[in-house]
Amino acid sequence: MIKIAGLTKVFRTEEVESTVLNNLNIVIKKGEFVSIMGPSGCGKSTLLNIIGLLDTPSGGSYLLEGDEVASLKEKDRIIRRKGLIGYIFQSFNLIDELTVYENIELPLIYMKMGKKERKEKVENIMKMFAISNRRKHFPQQLSGGQQQRVAVARAVITNPKLILADEPTGNLDSKRGKIVMSHLMKLHEAGATIIMVTHSPRFAEYADRRIRLFDGKVISESVKEALNV
Ligand code: ADP
Ligand code: MG
Repeated sequence: MIKIAGLTKVFRTEEVESTVLNNLNIVIKKGEFVSIMGPSGCGKSTLLNIIGLLDTPSGGSYLLEGDEVASLKEKDRIIRRKGLIGYIFQSFNLIDELTVYENIELPLIYMKMGKKERKEKVENIMKMFAISNRRKHFPQQLSGGQQQRVAVARAVITNPKLILADEPTGNLDSKRGKIVMSHLMKLHEAGATIIMVTHSPRFAEYADRRIRLFDGKVISESVKEALNV
C-alpha cells in the first residue's frame, strides 16, 4: 500500500522557488490500478518520481508497504526499488549504446537470471510488442512509438509488483496503445499495482480509479463505474 500525506515538493533554482506539489494526499491500495490526469506542468511526473523513489519530497510523509521512505538515502532507495518497481519513463531513458534486445534484457541481468531464461523472456516480450524485427537496432534508429514500446517492455519484463507508467501510450497510435494497455491490464489482473499518468481519457478508463491533479494537488477522484450486466 502507498500512503502519501501532506506531500510537498519545492524546486529551487538560483532565485526562483516553485512549489510543484502542495500538501498532496493519496492512498493507493495494493493491486489497485490508478490513472492520473491533469494539465501539463501540474506535477504528475514529479509525483511519479517520488513514488518511484527516484526523487525525495521536500516535506510530508510517504509510507510504502508500511515503511516511511520519504527521506531514504539514495543508496537505500536503489535497494528498495530493485525488482519491486517497474518504471516507464515519459522520456523513455533507453541506453543509446545498447540494442533493443540488450536494453530489454538489462533488468534480467541485474536480477542475475541465467542466459537461456533471459533469451526466452526477451524473445516473448519483443514478439508481444511487435519489435522483434528491431532487435539489433539502437534507440536512435527507432521511431518514437518503437522506443516507447521498448521502454514498456524493459519496465515490465521482471513482472514488478508496482508499475509506474508516465504516459506509456503518449507516442503510440490507437492500435499500439491498446496492445500496451492490454499488457498492463494483464499485469494488473496478475496482482500488480499500477499508477499511470495519461492524457488519454479513453485509456484512463481502464483504471479502477481516476485522480485529477491541478497545481500540485488532487482536485478530484472518480471510481470506475460498475458494469451494467
Ligand atoms: P507534468 O508531468 O505534470 O507535466 P512535472 O512534474 O514534470 O509536470 O513538472 C511540474 C513543474 O515542476 C513544472 O513547472 C516543471 O518545470 C517543474 N520541474 C520539474 N522538475 C524540475 C526540476 N528538476 N527543477 C526545477 N523545476 C522542475
Ligand atoms: Mg510529465
